[in-house]
Amino acid sequence: MILVQGLKAFLAAELPPRVQDAIDQRRRDIKASRFSAQNQGDTYVCVYCDHSHARFMPSGMSYPVIREKQIVAGGLRDNVVCPVCGSMDRERLARLMLDERMGVLPQHHVLHVGPEPKLHEYLIEIITGRLVACDLFPEDRPGVPNIIKQDLTKLDFGDEVFDFVICNHVLEHIPTDDLAMSEIKRVLKPGGKALLQVPYSEAIETTEEDFSVITNAERIARYGQSDHVRIYEKQDYVRRLESAGFQVDVMELDALEDYRRFAINPEECAFIAQKPQ
Ligand SMILES: [Zn+2]
Repeated sequence: MILVQGLKAFLAAELPPRVQDAIDQRRRDIKASRFSAQNQGDTYVCVYCDHSHARFMPSGMSYPVIREKQIVAGGLRDNVVCPVCGSMDRERLARLMLDERMGVLPQHHVLHVGPEPKLHEYLIEIITGRLVACDLFPEDRPGVPNIIKQDLTKLDFGDEVFDFVICNHVLEHIPTDDLAMSEIKRVLKPGGKALLQVPYSEAIETTEEDFSVITNAERIARYGQSDHVRIYEKQDYVRRLESAGFQVDVMELDALEDYRRFAINPEECAFIAQKPQ
């Protein structure tokens, strides 16, 4: 009896964060390998690990505003997480764009803002030039080696030092996104390119932002995520990038058709911004 009570107390006690993380990771691994076994097939292939499956794992938020405003790249959707290596749909899209549409070469200098782990692992493999990973909260990205703290609205880099900037799903978190866009442009070399994915909607009239919305609950209700400060209307997002001085190439859905077999989000366009020569 004493033993049972002791065991109960032990299980109820709060575990040290590292132990809890390891347990959570083990649970995710078991779930993923079960999913992998139940979804054998060759409909989708992962660009990172080359494994094929009939489906990839679903992921995403399911708040009502995401459905009501048809926010692309935020909602609960199928075929997001590779059950073998854990790559996300946005990381697969980013790699395809970098390799096939943006022309990244090993000697290029690359700034990766808010780095996605699998994509950054790949950049470490291929980039022999300067590669910098940064985030406003680097402690939140323990899987990314040598990550440094940077505020995207005032970067500590000189002018025209990077050939490419990768900054996916970051701008929707920043109240002064105009400053962030002009900083990205400043650090790019003339002709340099940035991949700048954001969640967006084509079902709203204009970008929705209201800086009096400050609580997590309000932001979830208005924007679909507790740390987002707006929902971009697609054309307005392009206009904002153009106002910052970029030439913007929007890869529309039909242009991305050939990449669907890599389990990219079938509703998501790609936004490639180029600093003029
Ligand atoms: Zn994979």
